[in-house]
Amino acid sequence: SGRLADVDPDVAAAIAAELHRQQSTLEMIASENFAPLAVMEAQGSVLTNKYAEGYPGRRYYGGCENVDVIEQLAIDRLKALFGAEYANVQPHSGAQANAAVMAALLTPGDRILGLDLAHGGHLSHGMKLNFSGKLYDVAAYHVREDDHRVDMDEVERLAREHRPKLIIAGWSAYPRHLDFARFREIADEVGAYLMVDMAHFAGLVAAGLHPSPVPHAHVVTSTTHKTLGGPRGGVILATAELARKFNSSVFPGQQGGPLEHVIAGKAVAFKLAAEPAFADRQRRTLAGAAAIADRLTAPDSREAGVAVVSGGTDVHLVLVDLRASTLDGQQAEDRLHEIGITVNRNAVPFDPRPPMVSSGVRIGTSALAARGFGDEDFAEVAEIIATALRPETDTLGLIGLRQRVTAPAARHPLYPTLSGPLPT
Ligand code: PLP
Repeated sequence: SGRLADVDPDVAAAIAAELHRQQSTLEMIASENFAPLAVMEAQGSVLTNKYAEGYPGRRYYGGCENVDVIEQLAIDRLKALFGAEYANVQPHSGAQANAAVMAALLTPGDRILGLDLAHGGHLSHGMKLNFSGKLYDVAAYHVREDDHRVDMDEVERLAREHRPKLIIAGWSAYPRHLDFARFREIADEVGAYLMVDMAHFAGLVAAGLHPSPVPHAHVVTSTTHKTLGGPRGGVILATAELARKFNSSVFPGQQGGPLEHVIAGKAVAFKLAAEPAFADRQRRTLAGAAAIADRLTAPDSREAGVAVVSGGTDVHLVLVDLRASTLDGQQAEDRLHEIGITVNRNAVPFDPRPPMVSSGVRIGTSALAARGFGDEDFAEVAEIIATALRPETDTLGLIGLRQRVTAPAARHPLYPTLSGPLPT
């Protein structure tokens, strides 16, 4: 038949098993989401066959008339969604987008200033084993020990001291808004470019539920698969003035042929992100995260040694602080996995435990909101998590919680028409 199940039953079986895993557990990894069927349909299309080096209307290959339409739609929709003058939709991932921006604005050896990985930054913001840490001279800012907010006075002090050429504002594990205006003031004072990496909160910005970095930054990068809910990939937004620099840095600077099948998925996702249903979903995402933060700061959780980094959240994630708990991050991740809730352990600021174990878990609500979870469902999920994180909850207790997880999952079926890679 030529179908996957016949050609490669091993891969087909693993995909079917993964579909079952996604359907039957609660996906709460803060960087994940569920792409709509329409996005996956675009991504699984014949566009995967096409070479299209260059940009719409200026390609180095023939036969690009259809992919030109698609890529232009993606560009126009993305610009409209965020009110940006320029957009590039070709970066294969968020890390690729950051690499392209840095290659465009910097020379190896130039100084950059980003949030420390251990305080919520991303690998591509200057971690020493990453390209960003190897090619550039890195200074890192931190959150304050008392309230876990980014210390803007330290950012200013480090900027004056190190005179970076690029300041990076953005995070992978930080539950609060950043002060983009202050970042820009500091960048202007020292003559640095300001790059905001909104990979995590782009969906919230699109829905108007998070301040937009676009008016403040010289350049904004993002992934398209986290809160934005599209296919895995990256994008760059900037002022028109920097357009040529970034276009040539992505291609031919960093990449060859663009992934037009993924770009088609991006175009679909950007269309959906402009619709009212998307804003409602982001509202449920935020309310769910706030409910979890509230529940995990209640007296009984506090007595169990559970806290929440910064005392709450303004975004789609909660960073649970287990420094005072007998459970470490690894044990908490394993417990939640046992009851069907998928999260990742994560270092918290000033974490005394080693990174492979850590004292935190990062819990996000985007994927469940995409499934249709609302306030009542998230209240139940918060209760389940709070119970699971009590050290005295034993195996029998965890079995009970595993049962409780099935009800909200059943109320909100995921991909009901799929049975493996294709619709039934
Ligand atoms: N930037 C931030 C802030 C991220 O959190 C991530 C992913 O976790 C990335 C960039 C990298 O994106 P990708 O995994 O698509 O390379």
